[in-house]
Amino acid sequence: MCGIAGYWSFGNEAFPILLKALENLEYRGYDSFGFATISDGKLVIRKAVGRISNSRCDLIEGRMGIAHTRWATHGGVSERNSHPHRDCTNRFAVAHNGIIENYQELRNYLISEGHNFLSETDTEVISHLIEQMVIKDGRNLKKAVMDVSDKIEGRNAFIVLDAFNNEMIASRKGSPLIVGIKGSSDEEKEVFIASDIPAFLEHTNKVMYIDDGEGVIINGSPLFFRLSDGLPVDKRLITIDWSPGQAEKGDYDHYMLKEIMEQKESIRRAANQNPEELMKVAQMINEAKGVFFIGCGTAAKVCQSAEYFFSEIAGRHVNFVPASEFDNYRHFLIPKTLVIAVSQSGETADVLEAISIAREKGSKVISIVNSIGSSMTRVSDYTFMINAGPEKAVASTKATTSQMTVALLLAYACAGKLKEGMRNLVSLAGEVNDMLNPRYIEHIRYVAENISDSRSIFIIGRGVNYPIALESAIKVMEVSYIHAQGFAGGELKHGPIALIEKGTPVIALVADDDVREEILSNAIEVKSRGAFVIGISPENNEVFDLWIRTPPSLGVLSSIINLIPVQLLAYYLGIINNRNVDMPRNLAKAVTVL
Ligand code: GLU
Repeated sequence: MCGIAGYWSFGNEAFPILLKALENLEYRGYDSFGFATISDGKLVIRKAVGRISNSRCDLIEGRMGIAHTRWATHGGVSERNSHPHRDCTNRFAVAHNGIIENYQELRNYLISEGHNFLSETDTEVISHLIEQMVIKDGRNLKKAVMDVSDKIEGRNAFIVLDAFNNEMIASRKGSPLIVGIKGSSDEEKEVFIASDIPAFLEHTNKVMYIDDGEGVIINGSPLFFRLSDGLPVDKRLITIDWSPGQAEKGDYDHYMLKEIMEQKESIRRAANQNPEELMKVAQMINEAKGVFFIGCGTAAKVCQSAEYFFSEIAGRHVNFVPASEFDNYRHFLIPKTLVIAVSQSGETADVLEAISIAREKGSKVISIVNSIGSSMTRVSDYTFMINAGPEKAVASTKATTSQMTVALLLAYACAGKLKEGMRNLVSLAGEVNDMLNPRYIEHIRYVAENISDSRSIFIIGRGVNYPIALESAIKVMEVSYIHAQGFAGGELKHGPIALIEKGTPVIALVADDDVREEILSNAIEVKSRGAFVIGISPENNEVFDLWIRTPPSLGVLSSIINLIPVQLLAYYLGIINNRNVDMPRNLAKAVTVL
């Protein structure tokens, strides 16, 4: 994961811009952070453990620099292991995102060549390899970056800052990097480079994408080249229609709450897809020999929901596989297989790996993503953008319901009912708008207060609400650190019911559908064993100890509506328990490592 950033200009100080960029990238990792700038021809480095937003940083001078916010993979969380990492001569500093799979072998080689390692990270091999190639072997930095990119194995992106030549060169192979440009004349020009657009969105919305296998030299206008042979690559300047405000908290205390509330609009935006494209992909689905929805974490639950949507709406069987397990399904892939990959960031390493398996087998790939220009958009035959706008809280909320919206549209399109589906989703967006009023939110906080000191929370659902029960448990766990587990209502009595004791909270997801009576029976079963039952349901019921009302008659769409109160409940469980709801421990948003 990790967020990396770099900045160059003629006249501005780099540090304040890099500091803000890291704050904006903190959702990618927050174990430690660091900066390197060039001042009077020398590297100046500052590092610290912890969250950048909680620390005070002394300004360092220089109009060019790099920065890093870390999610540690190799080497513990310490100042020593924080990036940027230097070479032995203090000429080069490196910020890196990824895992260098063969770092041990490279490290042993470099130690035998006399290099002195200061950290336990895999990253540090890059700075010493660059030193070895430039200072000992006499290569120029560009050629050294090309050769290092070739030597290191795995999905990686890195930026090298060279204090001697006053330049920085970045390489992208697997992990994301984007260049931003501000100002047109040479004197006014500012160049940004980062793992994601929100890092510099407040300065510019003009970007150039670095594709996989490409590098860029920055000491003035960026010069793009191919890592394989060094040949220049032309780039188009693209204007992103995200506004900086979309990536800010505004009046909300937390991004998570802001993003939950934004579902009033984001569902509508997700539903606003091009009907012709939907019909084209629906035809591909209908003609495919095997359809696999793949994703990780919350996106995997969206994929599991898709199984139910296609069954209910189109009577079509589609498979769901967690992307990290997809390799096991390679034997079933043929060119007529269709893989539909779901990811908020479009950079999830497990999903990208699964896509490359599909590609190897000649299967077609459709992506459902949020981040514009992300890796998945570049390796897919077709991409649906969910248009949720930047999602910064680590726990996904609005992106989840937007991904579900697109999956639903595809199911409707496959059934030849696209118009009806679009109408239903627009009216659903209206229901969400009415539902998310201050009294409703206050009530959910009250429900959270009733169960905030629980050891475990169980969530049950049937049919389309079964994957939602699973997703609800993820939400509760990640932001409140309370153990939570989702079950299919009918499965509870086959084992987990042994865990129910007096006062154990069980949330029952109920809808006006044909499994309503069954899920209420399951709620009665747990209540009889002492459970404290919270019903999320269009009508109250005597089995509920507490009731959260949802709009009636939504059928299959009840899955989206039932998830939203649980997102809010998870948020308040986190707040009441003093958790950092936007950046829960051990997590990062874009999971760019396998
Ligand atoms: N492997 C590097 C480290 O542990 C970078 C980690 C990452 O990109 O997540 O410092």
